[in-house]
Amino acid sequence: MNPVWIIAKKRDGGELADGEIADFVAGFADGSVPDYQMSALAMAIFLQGMTVAETASLTRHMLDSGVRLEWPGGSPCVDKHSTGGVGDKVSLPLAAMLAECGVRVPMISGRGLGSTGGTLDKLESIPGFRTDLSLPEIHAVVDRVGCVITGASAELAPADKKLYALRDVTATVPSIPLITASIMSKKLAEGLDALVLDVKCGSGAFMKTVDQARELARSLVRTGREMGVATTAVLTDMNQPLGRMVGNAVEVDESVDCLRGEGPDDLLEVTLALGGELLVSAGKAPTVHEARRLLEQTVTSGAALSRFDQMVSAQGGNPTAERPVAPEAVVESPATGFVTSINAELIGEAVIAMRGGRKLVTDRLDHSTGLEMLVRLGDRVDNGQPLARIFAKADTRDEASQKLLTAIRIGETAMQQTRLVLETISH
Ligand code: URA
Repeated sequence: MNPVWIIAKKRDGGELADGEIADFVAGFADGSVPDYQMSALAMAIFLQGMTVAETASLTRHMLDSGVRLEWPGGSPCVDKHSTGGVGDKVSLPLAAMLAECGVRVPMISGRGLGSTGGTLDKLESIPGFRTDLSLPEIHAVVDRVGCVITGASAELAPADKKLYALRDVTATVPSIPLITASIMSKKLAEGLDALVLDVKCGSGAFMKTVDQARELARSLVRTGREMGVATTAVLTDMNQPLGRMVGNAVEVDESVDCLRGEGPDDLLEVTLALGGELLVSAGKAPTVHEARRLLEQTVTSGAALSRFDQMVSAQGGNPTAERPVAPEAVVESPATGFVTSINAELIGEAVIAMRGGRKLVTDRLDHSTGLEMLVRLGDRVDNGQPLARIFAKADTRDEASQKLLTAIRIGETAMQQTRLVLETISH
């Protein structure tokens, strides 16, 4: 294989053969293809795109760069993946609710990326909680509790880890085939029977428009199905934070509220929509309607909360230990009117300003910081009415408040309510 020919073929708009992609990815993974050639190919893919077959091939060979978990016998293995949003804590209640419905959930999650929060960062606000489980530990927790939420170990899709770092510094992140291969190689390494993708769209998401989100969703679903996993995608609105809480400890608190049946409606709605798709795909319910009923029952019976506590304990965490929250301050509306827009990305940045998210990968987080949204799109507000509560240390409070005031627009005319669950894509 000559990497230069493969790069030139893609640069000129050609379709790469499966063998060419296999050799290139294997060479990149073992170091014989240097970073500069992989970067050049990534840019060629970014500019020329890939066919469905090429995208599936890239995904398969990135997956084959590492190990794939195996779950012989027993109940189906399922997972969900979110493309990332602000206040998106769905994984926490969903993993426990699904396990309670009799499926296994080996959830490999990530850290915050840009202004979107990361599931692992949130869970690490629970004292003692470990997110670095080895493969045997992942198996042990799933066998014992039915669900696990942990970080990707070095053995899972290592080519993606290397490629993602290159894409980040070569302006090649927003490419549908590259995003598809990146997400799906990691998810398929979990050895799943069914997968649901929560493709977020709006001001706080990677994909700002429904058209972009739909295109990504179709690519993810086609690739998953091509690889033999029952895959569906749900497009959900991210033009305002999901739930009220944004941060780390405060999002765990809100997830626990959700499992107690006391969480915000939008969080429950997205959790049920995604879980419903998965239970149907896994053959655990005949219809989404019935699946949602089963999931709701796990909350009303208290079983899902107890399952969540078992998972936390199995991963070294103390579910009853206090999760400290920073001192509270209120951000007030500067005008009377209606909430006409919320820039969710800026809300995420307010949390980063409070050190609840990272500016650099090496940054240490302050898990006690965050905010609570007290208004939603379309609400009527009076001058001086609290818009949000922020939980911050004194040195970051002003910057965070300013960001919030810029993010929440107050106008004169009421807007139409937006839909939360926009579309389901299954082919
Ligand atoms: N998340 C991923 O894991 N990979 C991407 O390329 C984009 C988002």
